[in-house]
Amino acid sequence: MYRTKTNGELRLSDAGTTVTLAGWVQRTRKFGGMTFVDLRDRYGITQLVFNEEHDASLCEQANKLGREWVIQVIGEVSERSNKNPNIPTGDIEILVKTLNILNESITPPFTIEDNSDGGDDIRMKYRYLDIRRSCVRQNLELRHKFAFEVRRYLDEQGFLEIETPILVNSTPEGARDFVVPSRMNPGQFYALPQSPQTLKQLLMVAGMDRYFQIVKCFRDEDLRADRQPEFTQIDCEMSYVEQEDILQMFEGMSRHLFKAIKGIDIPALPRMTWADAMKNYGSDKPDTRFGMTFVELKNNQPDNASREIVESIFPAGFTVFDEAAYIGAICCEGQAVYTRKQIDQLTDFVKRPQIGAKGLVYARVQEDGSVKSSVDKFYTPETLEVLKNKMNAKAGDLILILSGSDAMKVRKQLCELRLEMGSRMGLRDKSKYSCLWVIDFPMYEWSDEEQRLMAMHHPFTSPKPEDIPLLDTDPASVRANAYDMVVNGVEVGGGSIRIHDAKLQQKIFEILGFTPEQAQQKFGFLMNAFKYGAPPHGGLAYGLDRFVSLFAELDSIRDCIAFPKNNSGRDVMLDAPGFIDQSQLDELCLQVALPAEEK
Ligand code: ASP
Repeated sequence: MYRTKTNGELRLSDAGTTVTLAGWVQRTRKFGGMTFVDLRDRYGITQLVFNEEHDASLCEQANKLGREWVIQVIGEVSERSNKNPNIPTGDIEILVKTLNILNESITPPFTIEDNSDGGDDIRMKYRYLDIRRSCVRQNLELRHKFAFEVRRYLDEQGFLEIETPILVNSTPEGARDFVVPSRMNPGQFYALPQSPQTLKQLLMVAGMDRYFQIVKCFRDEDLRADRQPEFTQIDCEMSYVEQEDILQMFEGMSRHLFKAIKGIDIPALPRMTWADAMKNYGSDKPDTRFGMTFVELKNNQPDNASREIVESIFPAGFTVFDEAAYIGAICCEGQAVYTRKQIDQLTDFVKRPQIGAKGLVYARVQEDGSVKSSVDKFYTPETLEVLKNKMNAKAGDLILILSGSDAMKVRKQLCELRLEMGSRMGLRDKSKYSCLWVIDFPMYEWSDEEQRLMAMHHPFTSPKPEDIPLLDTDPASVRANAYDMVVNGVEVGGGSIRIHDAKLQQKIFEILGFTPEQAQQKFGFLMNAFKYGAPPHGGLAYGLDRFVSLFAELDSIRDCIAFPKNNSGRDVMLDAPGFIDQSQLDELCLQVALPAEEK
């Protein structure tokens, strides 16, 4: 037997027993005639002691151990005189009688401890060593527990986990597909699923009633901290349901996960319409851990987010405001202490190309209640008083104002500013959770690039029944039976009630610009299936990586993925993707023509 115990389980009550342990040498320390070794495995660290006086040759052997060598020891559990309260095994140590070296290790490229000296790149290249670090390992343990509790909950609710194929045709989720050439069908390609969307709908037609799958999905998109080319969804679909049934079922799942994994009782999830989310937070995934919601000071551009005209509180005088279609502001409590330099930093922040604001106007409410602002010279104290009242600002508060010609663009800029201020003011504590549903999304959004309406969620989403007549007259204002679950400003999941009527589905394809032939060619399989008694159905999918990274309080989803890709979509450990042999290309009838600079 390689071991009788792990390195995480021995306690004072085990003192006097003889045990066999195995693991990696984390570090060795020599004090006079004693050598101490920290022995590590997945379960923890146990201190080993070798005493020169008891066995000089054994101690000599121990002194030769290098970092990450794999060893086995037999010894007696004994109470430590110098206890370590920081680890669960800190009360004991092992007086070693036998030492076996199971494998040696060359010196690892970074220290395998929580505070490693290895940078991101090197740790990813040697990810198998990185995972030996407890902080990385714990994320994978949490991920396992999370997936396990998802399965437990959904199984109890009668869901069946059903696998769907990975080699499929292109699925329209709006991203680029990864494709796989077919050797047996020369010139033809499979696409890897962006999600099992159509397949899970077919499972509803097939009568499976409640389906789920923890499944890899693939999207060939430009990568950000919260995106990976392959990622994992908790994909779910139910038959004979309305939106309310889905919201209840999955609110229940979130409640179960928070309780089982974090020990947190989350309150009932508030529901916010997409319009309110955009109007008050400038985002369809508002971070509701803090307030600081938008106040519209002018809006002469009614849209889906706010349909009412708001007359400007500012009389004519300052051209920027006079010409703006929208002026919005946030009130930052107690931040009037912001220095000129700090405000300049904020101005630079909103002017960065990624945010794109032209400038930032501020107003400080002073201790005596009067208002001092960067646009003082254009306005009377009375106007600034109106501003103060409109913003509900008190002495000591800082008002930040953005304006522009496109309300939606300014809202998005103001959203970034609000999040920045939230972070600066310490209002975005990762260990506090604020969950909500965002509902009533628009069916469509206008794409400047494609010069047409695009499905905001996907083309299988059903419109709100009361908005169906608008499909003919004003499709851009039609709302969908679609919903997202948002946690701390992160969209963790989203879905919709689906169209189950072939004719309505046909019409939606038309509005999206598909000819009947194109629709038939791409989605004929689904529309045909709908002709055989498709039940009303709906569902949603969670991003498992995102949800787990929130639970683990991580900045990047990468840290809860065993072998993630880097920002260029590469696996630096496997050095993938890579070139393939000419013979393989020939077999697939493929020719590769690289752009000149890459040859
Ligand atoms: N397939 C959708 C997605 O990946 C989720 C859903 O509508 O169920 O976003």
